[in-house]
Amino acid sequence: MTEVRVRIAPSPSGNLHIGTARTALFNYLFAKKNNGKFILRIEDTDAERTSQAYIDNIFDSLKALGLNWDEGPDVGGPYGPYTQSERFDIYPKYAQMLLDKGFAYECFCTPEELEAEKQLATQNKKPYVYSKKCENLTEEEKAKLRAEGRKPAIRFNIAKAQKAFHEGTILKFDDLVKGELHMDTSLLGDFVIMKSNGTPTYNFAVVIDDMLMKISHVIRGEDHISNTFKQILIFEALGAEVPRFGHLGMILAPDRSKLSKRHGATAVSEFVEKGYLTEALINFVALLGWSPSDGQEIKSIDEIAKDFRIGDISSSNSIFEYDKLNWMNSHYIKMLSIDELKERLKPYLTKYDLTELTDEQYTRMVEITYEPLTLLSDITDAVPYFFGEDVEIDPKAQADVLDTDVAQDVLKEFLRQAEAWEFTEENLHEKLEAFRAEYKEKGIKPKVTMWAIRAAVTGRTCGADMTAILAILGKDKVFRRVKKAIK
Ligand code: GLU
Repeated sequence: MTEVRVRIAPSPSGNLHIGTARTALFNYLFAKKNNGKFILRIEDTDAERTSQAYIDNIFDSLKALGLNWDEGPDVGGPYGPYTQSERFDIYPKYAQMLLDKGFAYECFCTPEELEAEKQLATQNKKPYVYSKKCENLTEEEKAKLRAEGRKPAIRFNIAKAQKAFHEGTILKFDDLVKGELHMDTSLLGDFVIMKSNGTPTYNFAVVIDDMLMKISHVIRGEDHISNTFKQILIFEALGAEVPRFGHLGMILAPDRSKLSKRHGATAVSEFVEKGYLTEALINFVALLGWSPSDGQEIKSIDEIAKDFRIGDISSSNSIFEYDKLNWMNSHYIKMLSIDELKERLKPYLTKYDLTELTDEQYTRMVEITYEPLTLLSDITDAVPYFFGEDVEIDPKAQADVLDTDVAQDVLKEFLRQAEAWEFTEENLHEKLEAFRAEYKEKGIKPKVTMWAIRAAVTGRTCGADMTAILAILGKDKVFRRVKKAIK
């Protein structure tokens, strides 16, 4: 195979999982590095678990992460369709080919018969392997079973394929990530490739699609390793070129269990809703199993693509450290321009009436509030006092600050003096400095003086730059709030 062609093949039975995003990223990087093609295929053969909403979520999430595909259901390509449910007429022909070559056989066993076999295996404490009862049925026997109304499934004949292409029962392949892997295929059992209703199973559809789509490298999670042995034999039985395989370690939660909802977000769209930047997410997942050659972890997807080598991927599991992701996210927030921030923060400010602020005021609000943000969504609780006439006073600000005699005195004096002030930042800066100095002379620390004003105007004891806040709010609102705070 000359051209590198890789794919991500999600099953739309849920929103795009962060683990699938990592698999997609590694495929994408491998394609970029090798001037290859990155293909999106939707594996929706399980109609009951599939939904259009999940398909849309997969598209949107991959796009938001910048993992744009060269061929796929929406953009098409030379080997479409790229949605498995639209390919159902393709698979029977290849199943027939395997039947004709003797690498598959019809199986008429009923679910009850198969269940009985499984129970027997359990009783004997043996792993279940299909008995091959139907392997050598004669044409007469098959005709009789058909006449009874039985519809056959088609099973792949593992032993036949193993014998035709390998010595003994051990199948080996050289994994791009994990090195040589092997398995005794006599333990696999003849699995179904076409169900009795005429639809393909995952292991069969995936091989036919990878073959017809000329996939050169299959990079996916290590949970698929046992499937890979089955798939290699199918490729060989079809006389097709076998792609190279690479299996990625799992992503585990900090407690080393499977990453799940109870640890936090797991779908890309959930992370985005929570206020993670897609740039931070993609940078973070790249580091789950891969590390940059210069040790410099903050990298754009293009920089990562240049540095990426599949052989450097760690074969072990990776731990999903939410703390590290948070750190990275706050770093990426700080790298955004103010104009970008103004746009990206808007979805998290919908509970406020942004028309209360002019564009200039909104810009200034963002400038003075973005630095401590870990998540974009943190902005929601950082800015309520910029909106509305009055402000909700935090009980602590009331008790520790506003209820003190010093604060009451400061606020009264502030009203008296500020009447004559022009509420521009520059002017306020100068005036407040003089105001604090006067109180300092009386033995009141500058920060105590400012606490009184902050508590009255913002309802809080800490927050953004006070001069800027006063200028944004303007004299009327500030006076109204200070008057309310005076007893
Ligand atoms: N649809 C399969 C999954 O989501 C794809 C596995 C593969 O890459 O072959 O797990």
